[in-house]
Parts: sequence; C-alpha cells; structure tokens
Amino acid sequence: MGCGSGSVPKKARRTECNPEREEEEEICKVFTVEMGTLECDICFLPFQSEIYSNGHAACANCCINMERKCPSCNESMGDFRCRAMEKVLAGMTRPCRFKKHGCRETVRYTEARNHEEDLCCYAPYRCPFEGCACRGRLLYGHIMDTHSHGSSLAKLQKCEPFCVLLNRDKKSVFLVLNGGDVPTGRSLSLIRVCPYPQEGEGIGVDVKYKLVVHGGDRTSIRLEASMPVPFVRRLDGYKAKLFLFVPDAFWGSSGSVIVTMLD
Ligand SMILES: [Zn+2]
Ligand SMILES: [Zn+2]
Ligand SMILES: [Zn+2]
Ligand SMILES: [Zn+2]
Repeated sequence: MGCGSGSVPKKARRTECNPEREEEEEICKVFTVEMGTLECDICFLPFQSEIYSNGHAACANCCINMERKCPSCNESMGDFRCRAMEKVLAGMTRPCRFKKHGCRETVRYTEARNHEEDLCCYAPYRCPFEGCACRGRLLYGHIMDTHSHGSSLAKLQKCEPFCVLLNRDKKSVFLVLNGGDVPTGRSLSLIRVCPYPQEGEGIGVDVKYKLVVHGGDRTSIRLEASMPVPFVRRLDGYKAKLFLFVPDAFWGSSGSVIVTMLD
C-alpha cells in the first residue's frame, strides 16, 4: 500500500482541485533566462532559426563568415546543427517589445529581431535628419512640420544625403535619397515615409511615382523616371533597388538640382 493515496487513479489525482498545487505548477512553467546564453558566441546577436555547434555554438551567418572554422577552438564547425537548442528557442515566445506602443504580436525568440527591427509597425525610429534627436513611431508628422518646406519641389545639394518632398495632397511625405554608390554621378531614389498604411490598406504594395530632376543651371534638359516607391520607416541599412542616375555634369556650377515628384 502506498502512502495514503488509496485507490485514487493517477489521472484524477493530477487534475483534482488544489489551488496551491496549481499555483506551484504555474510557477514551474516560467523560466528566467540570461540573455547572453541565447546569443551566438561569435557575433553576440540572438540566435535565429539555425544553430551550428562543435561544442561551441555559432549562428548560421557566422558559420558562413568564418568558413565553418570555429574561432574559439579552430576546429571545423561542419554541418552539425544543434537541434536541441534550436527546438528550445523555437518554443520560446514573448510579447513584442513595443507592446506599450500598441503592438499585440507574440513573437518567437528566433523571429523577434526580424519583427522588431523590420516588420513591427509600432517600432519607434530615430529621425534621420542630422542633429535631430526626435524619435517616434510616426515620424512623418514631425518631418512634415519640422523638416519640409511644404512643397512638392525641392532643391537638393549634391552633398546632401536626402531631401523632403510632400505629395500634392500635402499629406504624404517622401524623401529623395541621394546615393553615392555609383561612379561619375549620383543615384536618386524615392521612399515614402508615411502615413504608414493601416492594416488591410496594402502594406507592401508600392505605388509608382515619377521623379523629375532639373539641372541646377536652368537648362531645359530634365531627367525623369517612374519607380515603385516603398514605405520605409528607418533609413539605416536601406538600399534602393531602383534609382535615377544623375551624372556629375548635371549638377552644374551650383552643385544642386531641383527635384519634384508626380503621381
Ligand atoms: Zn553569430
Ligand atoms: Zn569550437
Ligand atoms: Zn511588434
Ligand atoms: Zn527631425
């Protein structure tokens, strides 16, 4: 005979009403994890879906960058995935860090970075203008009030990284990005800062706009291109896929051009 459990079947015993026991079980479901233990040993970024291990652990990116040689012990990383750790991380979820700004998503540990840096509509960003300390979720109102001349036409200096244009409806804010990644000229592209589309309004659908550039020296020549204009809320790391090439000579003696935008 056991210690007083009588003939109560095992299953019934587990579900019997015992608030104290239930509370204990609830507590046992919650673990606190030190952040460093869930990061790659090499780049110190949170692990994403794939983890490789030879005893030391590395994320997929580092594994490729290090040509599969472990920087800690110099042994090969091989193709050994650390499935147990991957499984643990895949099962870990938490609320999005921008919950207090209104995001209701619960994200997997392995997808949190991607969500919070690129996808979350509630993430606050730094205003891209030099010297401006403003941070916010919807920067378009701030950019419109503080940094725009309220016009769909702007003078862009060759050395300026971008300038603001308003659409003719005076509500949509665009930036003309002035990229230096091409030889003998500049690459101009458009992004739409906001208003960010609401759910169901076609997030990810890029509307086409025409960018028109007049030379600084009042010639009648103009350059133009129609391009899909993506919503971009954060400039760091953004790279335009399509751009209008504006040759060095076009910037004239003033080193500037007049840019405008048409629907
Ligand atoms: Zn790494
Ligand atoms: Zn190693
Ligand atoms: Zn979020
Ligand atoms: Zn600003």
